[in-house]
Amino acid sequence: MSRFWSPFVKGLVPYVPGEQPKMHKLTKLNTNENPYGPSPKVLAAIQGELGDDLRRYPDPNSDLLKAAIADYHGVDVAQVFVGNGSDEVLAHIFHGLFQHGKPLLFPDITYSFYPVYCGLYGIPYEAIPLDESFQIRVGDYTGMKGGIIFPNPNAPTGSFLPLAEIERLLMVNTETVVVIDEAYVDFGGESAICLVDRFPNLLVTQTLSKSRSLAGLRVGFAVGHPDLIEALERIKNSFNSYPLDRLAQRGAVASFADQAYFEQCQQAVISERDELVKALTALDFEVLPSAANFVFCRHSRRDAAALAADLREDGVIVRHFKQARIEQFLRITIGRPEENAVLLASLQAIL
Ligand code: PMP
Repeated sequence: MSRFWSPFVKGLVPYVPGEQPKMHKLTKLNTNENPYGPSPKVLAAIQGELGDDLRRYPDPNSDLLKAAIADYHGVDVAQVFVGNGSDEVLAHIFHGLFQHGKPLLFPDITYSFYPVYCGLYGIPYEAIPLDESFQIRVGDYTGMKGGIIFPNPNAPTGSFLPLAEIERLLMVNTETVVVIDEAYVDFGGESAICLVDRFPNLLVTQTLSKSRSLAGLRVGFAVGHPDLIEALERIKNSFNSYPLDRLAQRGAVASFADQAYFEQCQQAVISERDELVKALTALDFEVLPSAANFVFCRHSRRDAAALAADLREDGVIVRHFKQARIEQFLRITIGRPEENAVLLASLQAIL
């Protein structure tokens, strides 16, 4: 800490991302990336962008990408905002759309970036406890609030709320911005995008990092009422504006055009998840029902931190959170069949 740090910087509690090891020999099941590579059509499109045009700035508005997203989700282009990963989209939302004088509501066990953004942007917040089965209870999101946000499916639990519950939440929360973070929706959830025409205070965010295997490209987006989207554009353009680069725009557009590949990877992850749940259960893990590309589980006897450390020794990385109520859980990303087999063999040896 330097004496030149302002009290603001001293007070920041930054986000701690999952480990991104430099060694490729590790079985990496800690940050919920897709085990399969991007569509070959995406790679070809990016290759096609690698030429003289790279000396030109990218389209600051990502018009082709917005059109592709609007078309894919059956909404108007004016209802789409894009950013460098959904983390950036969320940063703009926290910065400018939540009312900073009242507490933002989100679950106590959820995406750990939310409290970080609250710290950065000076937003008070209230963490609402999950129920006894680690579910979000929408009826608890009441009282004075400056906004509501949660992932659906939630992270790191993987639990999912049906659309009817989201609707119920929106019916009683008409005066505040409600954000549903659908980073994992393609692995078994139901998107709330179909509700944006009915609820002008709803914003749905999604990412190409998970179900579209493009975490390295950094593309995320939000869908909502044109007024909310216009507000996000204002916020974005009040920075020196960070447009998506040419490769990201081109690759992302190509991803929406390859539905067959998307579905193939989606189905593979879902069926591997089912297999992994069975195998972990047989090894005496309690596995929470998951609609995401990861599972959240605890062993009946072994300490989770010790298990994570032993797996790491063995070359398998999973995620452990030192947080009350979940310190005995591990979050394990669904890998390819051979990666999951390595995980299971390692667990068998350790347990
Ligand atoms: N929301 C949730 C719930 C996540 O787990 C993540 C990934 N860490 C993100 C948003 C951000 O994803 P990205 O910035 O890669 O789009």
